[in-house]
Amino acid sequence: MSIYEAIYKSDENEEMVTVFNIEQHENFTDVKNNLYCTYQGCTARLSYVPKGKVRAYFKTWPKEDHTQDCVDYFERVATANKQRSVATSTMELSEKHVKNVLDNLRKKRKEAAGTGKPKSGNKKKPRPTVDPGSGENTTLNIVPTTGPNADLASGEDNVREPSVRNRSLINLTVDDLNWTRSIEGYIQNVEVGDKRAVLQLQDGSNSFLIYFEEYFFDNAAVNFGRYFQDLQNLANEHQGYLFSGVGLIEQRNNQFCMLVNRGNDFRIDDQYIAVFLANLSA
Ligand SMILES: [Zn+2]
Repeated sequence: MSIYEAIYKSDENEEMVTVFNIEQHENFTDVKNNLYCTYQGCTARLSYVPKGKVRAYFKTWPKEDHTQDCVDYFERVATANKQRSVATSTMELSEKHVKNVLDNLRKKRKEAAGTGKPKSGNKKKPRPTVDPGSGENTTLNIVPTTGPNADLASGEDNVREPSVRNRSLINLTVDDLNWTRSIEGYIQNVEVGDKRAVLQLQDGSNSFLIYFEEYFFDNAAVNFGRYFQDLQNLANEHQGYLFSGVGLIEQRNNQFCMLVNRGNDFRIDDQYIAVFLANLSA
């Protein structure tokens, strides 16, 4: 159930705020950090989620619980998992898996263009219901990675490769930090340096940087330096080539960005960069 009202508790008083007026509050920053559930007797802390793809709402602060009779009470997955020991491992994504991710992005985009529907088919997932008695006693939490030093090789021990979630430039949140995600966006600018390339993507007023750094160039084919040079020349002439890729979400200079680690983890206009460039010059 979405929450649209909260109580702002300060040292002096308590005040009801809603998602419609909170941003206009003169102490907005302080308000954001001191929000609580409005249900009588419930002390759960809330956080404000500004308008993104959906309208603004309040969500329950991580690891906070509502009292049992609160209308916003729900059993947390974490509570049910308490009896299990949870271990986290990173698994390197195979090229085949990343290829599927990128192929699916293209497919979804084509479908969306065909039907005129928005590209995220935002099907609402029901809140997971957890039977505390079910499941094994150990849960292995597997995190996808394309970087060095993965704990597991792809598909090791017959474990399925973890899925890669897609994010748009505007719906990235701090929850995506340090996770491997897929992103699409239109290239506005390309910067090339020694063992370094930076693509700037644009979505409305949202700007987003894709980094290719030393690790990438040390492991990719030697031609990549030239590919990015060529891409830079093309981007100077024409903005709006489509980038799609899989990489690590980071935050630099207070902005979300993506680090791409491998030559086959991204495409330009749905083609590997070598193919894209070859087709253009053909
Ligand atoms: Zn509550």
